[in-house]
Amino acid sequence: AKEFGRDNFQFYAPEFNTRAHEKFVLQEDLRNALARLEFTLFYQPQVDLRSGHVFAVEALIRWNHPTRGMLAPTAFIPTAEETSLIVPIGDWVLHEACRQNKAWQDAGLPPMTVCVNVSTRQFREKNLIGRVADALNVSGLEARYLELEVTESLIMQDIDLAVATMNQLQNLGVQISIDDFGTGYSSLSALKTFPVARLKIDKSFINDIAADENDQAVASAVISLGQNLNLRVIAEGVETDDQVAFLRKNNCDEMQGYHFSEPVSAPDIEKMLSGEPMD
Ligand code: C2E
Ligand code: CA
Ligand code: CA
Ligand code: CA
Repeated sequence: AKEFGRDNFQFYAPEFNTRAHEKFVLQEDLRNALARLEFTLFYQPQVDLRSGHVFAVEALIRWNHPTRGMLAPTAFIPTAEETSLIVPIGDWVLHEACRQNKAWQDAGLPPMTVCVNVSTRQFREKNLIGRVADALNVSGLEARYLELEVTESLIMQDIDLAVATMNQLQNLGVQISIDDFGTGYSSLSALKTFPVARLKIDKSFINDIAADENDQAVASAVISLGQNLNLRVIAEGVETDDQVAFLRKNNCDEMQGYHFSEPVSAPDIEKMLSGEPMD
């Protein structure tokens, strides 16, 4: 029977759709990755454009895959979303980011906010609030040092639900920012009701900001919107001096991007913030 099974497999194997097969393998690997501690968080500094001070870091997940090497989130987050594995993975990210931030504070680094990306599936979980509260309790991190990044398109899918959930999160004391802002068509009247502290201008508007008049118009509109609604505005994907100059001239509050630093490991963040040379 064993022989037959093997022949059988070989007979059918070439018939497998390669992409479906790859996806199946990815799902199986993802299921094991948490137990095997293959995920890691990199951190990218967020800088105050006026003072140059690093006031926050964004946690960005990486997967140190046993055979494929270090994988970017775009290679596995979509599959994690489809399979709901994003829920336990997202829990791990929350716990790890809070633990690390508390450890930095305990080690005497100036207190920073850690920003964590929340996916649609995670945001829709009934007990999201409990899960976030749990990560804070277990780590001992004060809620005000945790910020959740929620994309504009996620909010726009169901505004009432999003506002209700964001209100509960705000009651817990965590901060909320709107990620990829400018891509999701929020109406002004809706935006006014969102309990958020910050808008992140999507990097697609920052790329050509030094030359493209449309991008300049969008970016400066988002910046004045933020000023009028009393929200801080951060530009993401900032790489060049020209982009920084435009943002300064237009009174943007904060920036994040390769111009200051790529996302780096936790030990490298410590070196950066204590002025030691990095590897
Ligand atoms: P995002 O939240 O919009 O994160 C910003 C992405 O831009 C990051 O890519 C970051 O490395 C990259 N980036 C930062 N500065 C620059 C720059 O100056 N130039 C350019 N070209 N890119 C820059 P990354 O780390 O590959 O993450 C991609 C996306 O994966 C994130 O986009 C986010 O949507 C998702 N993601 C990352 N970590 C998590 C996580 O823990 N949970 C969830 N649900 N999603 C995550
Ligand atoms: Ca983000
Ligand atoms: Ca973003
Ligand atoms: Ca994005």
